[in-house]
Amino acid sequence: MSDAKIRLTTDLSGQVALVTGAARGLGRAIAENLARCGAKVACVDVNAELLDQTVAAIGAAGGTAMAWTCDVTDSARVSAVVDEVVKTWGGLDILVNNAGITKDTLILRMKDDQWDAVININLRGTFLFTRAAARPLMKSSRGRIINIASVAGIMGNPGQSNYSASKAGVIGLTRTVAKELAGRNITVNAVAPGFIATDMTAVLSDEVKEAIKKQVPLGRMGDPQDIADAVLFLASPAAGFITGHVLTVDGGLTA
Ligand code: NAP
Repeated sequence: MSDAKIRLTTDLSGQVALVTGAARGLGRAIAENLARCGAKVACVDVNAELLDQTVAAIGAAGGTAMAWTCDVTDSARVSAVVDEVVKTWGGLDILVNNAGITKDTLILRMKDDQWDAVININLRGTFLFTRAAARPLMKSSRGRIINIASVAGIMGNPGQSNYSASKAGVIGLTRTVAKELAGRNITVNAVAPGFIATDMTAVLSDEVKEAIKKQVPLGRMGDPQDIADAVLFLASPAAGFITGHVLTVDGGLTA
């Protein structure tokens, strides 16, 4: 576990952030961390009930957040959500594309719908929010896009051809959009988590988890806070000269 006493901090007051997949897991930790540092956070997810819990937790901790129910693959809804956020809070400064799913199976058994669902949510969803947010981010003097990729998109992972391809796609998208938007002072980076303890990895057997820990030089699974702090750093003024970068947060797995 991370040492809870050592917390990265920065001043994001006056800034507006939008985090997809904010109902639970990494997205919730990212949204809470940005709000703790003063950003107003638009929390986006398909899961309305859990989304309300994220917003309530941020409010209880003294932060500002609102919920927007949205499927990241729904182009019209994505544009409408970005418009509503900009109307509500006057702009957008930070976009975190975090919503993602897995549908694991070996390539010989991979069904079309398993492939399409993962590519659509993980890659197309990131594209749709990036495109919709680009104009408002251009109006910010300090725009930030942070995409949550995965080490699977760098090193591959048996049983995850769809997922690895989607995350490699997110990395390619990150590097390209970084070059396209650099002239508008928008930085675009990716965080590539290794194995992090969330609902997504809770489905793995204890045996698999132990095998994973053996492969990780730091000998543990990551904590959502490890990812939330990497995102916070990239969102902060301290990272203003970093763009097109993929920051692995994996306990040394890809070292
Ligand atoms: P999680 O606990 O499963 O949470 C993902 C959230 O995204 C859920 O609230 C989910 O809602 C939401 N979501 C799914 N489909 C959506 C859609 N179409 N539109 C809007 N929201 C949607 O996952 P996590 O572990 O926090 O992962 C977050 C991100 O980190 C993902 O991109 C994942 O690929 C990446 N990542 C995770 C790990 C890890 O070890 N945990 C490692 C590398 C990368 P529902 O569940 O209600 O559908």
